[in-house]
Amino acid sequence: MASPEDLTGVEKSLYAKREPVCPKAVDGKFRRLKWLIMAVTLAIYYVTPWLRWDRGPYAPDQAVLVDLAHRRFYMFGIEIWPHEFYYVAGLLIMAGIGLFLVTSVVGRAWCGYACPQTVWTDLFQHVDRLVEGDRNAQMRLAKAPWTASKIGKRALKYAIFLLISLATGGAWIFYFADAPTLAHDLMAGDAADVAYATVGVLTATTFVLGGFLREQVCIYMCPWPRIQTAMLDERSLLVTYKEWRGEPRHRGTKKASLADLELGDCIDCYQCVSVCPTGIDIREGPQIGCITCALCIDACDKVMAQIGRPRGLIDYATLEDCRAEAQGGEATPVLKTILRPRTLIYFAIWISVGLAMLFALGERTRVDISAQPERNPVYVLLSDGAVRNSFTVKIRNMQARPREMEVAITGLAGAAIWTDAGGRERAGATLVTNVPPDALAKLRIFVAAPSGGETRDEFSFTVRALDADGGSDSVDAVFERPGTER
Ligand code: SF4
Ligand code: SF4
Repeated sequence: MASPEDLTGVEKSLYAKREPVCPKAVDGKFRRLKWLIMAVTLAIYYVTPWLRWDRGPYAPDQAVLVDLAHRRFYMFGIEIWPHEFYYVAGLLIMAGIGLFLVTSVVGRAWCGYACPQTVWTDLFQHVDRLVEGDRNAQMRLAKAPWTASKIGKRALKYAIFLLISLATGGAWIFYFADAPTLAHDLMAGDAADVAYATVGVLTATTFVLGGFLREQVCIYMCPWPRIQTAMLDERSLLVTYKEWRGEPRHRGTKKASLADLELGDCIDCYQCVSVCPTGIDIREGPQIGCITCALCIDACDKVMAQIGRPRGLIDYATLEDCRAEAQGGEATPVLKTILRPRTLIYFAIWISVGLAMLFALGERTRVDISAQPERNPVYVLLSDGAVRNSFTVKIRNMQARPREMEVAITGLAGAAIWTDAGGRERAGATLVTNVPPDALAKLRIFVAAPSGGETRDEFSFTVRALDADGGSDSVDAVFERPGTER
């Protein structure tokens, strides 16, 4: 692409070449927290499809399963049918509001600790250190000529990246089929083409996003930082360099003379920049490249301990607190910062949605009925003078065992019902049918009623499970007599 010229006539590129980021290893409380979150999130991702959950002989025993073939979502003791998708929508709403809540309290904590891009990038950066050494060794190797040693190290590193990527892509598809069976089929070459294609695509994206693009995803590709920026306010906790305390920065001044010389606490050692996984300098102020991972806090706290100054030159702080501290005031207590109207409103909405879902889950019956009238013909006059309507009735048994169900009608005087399998000689006020486990039974039900009533009579079909668990459901329908033709 042609470069634009500035007023001096010198050509300038619109794009800055990416400088590889080689973050230095650091230890500290936030690093240890990141280790913990990484271990938990990776364990959840890789192990969950292998957890078993006994649902009896008629349902899969995988604890978490998106069964696309049978259109079911299993999550431990909960089974979601397609018509109950609002529970999944509720979970997504909770996740969204939860992110708003976390962002308004601790800024981009999601980005810094739990986002998959962060977790896998962090993992890949540890592989970098494991194979090539820490920051300085990596930078030296990057500039070194292509010797056998460099080729060997790079080959080993990319092989480990590939293995991690393959495990990541492979784990994903186990959420959509019985994991042990699918693993066996994959190894034997018997799995469906779409399974291999999905593993291939996810392996490639993990390899590229975690192995190469890394911080560029956070800075240029992901829309979430932009949205989050709009959600922050002056009382959100952010990783902040306390300029009022650190400036004027200086190098090589002995610790005893710091206060005398009226210098700031920052000794310009560059440690906060060296450990930053996105390669930014937090001393330049809040910026979109900061994922608030707090590793620079760990690095700077260590430096402060070495030069005998209090920790927290870089720390979680609100803009409001920084202003107050700069003028000699006190920071607001953390609890007061967290418990403010905005966060309490988010929390109230979040907990209300959660409680509403829990209530709905507790109340739902695992029986469901729907009825569709047959319009051709709308009614039939029987030889005894009665009028017959017919309906397609669907009964869902949402439990993993066969159940006996009784269907009845209410609100239609003198009516009798029967199925085409039973015949009119077995007509009665109710009928009983067996519904297979975790299935939908479709019945053609005839309803006969005396001819002398309203031309359109509203009534209800009711279904009731006859076993100890019970449960019932009903649906409204209309019985039509002569005079209703349109
Ligand atoms: S680590 Fe602390 S002292 Fe060192 S440059 Fe960063 S802010 Fe200054
Ligand atoms: S500036 Fe600090 S908190 Fe922000 S990304 Fe870098 S190390 Fe993490």
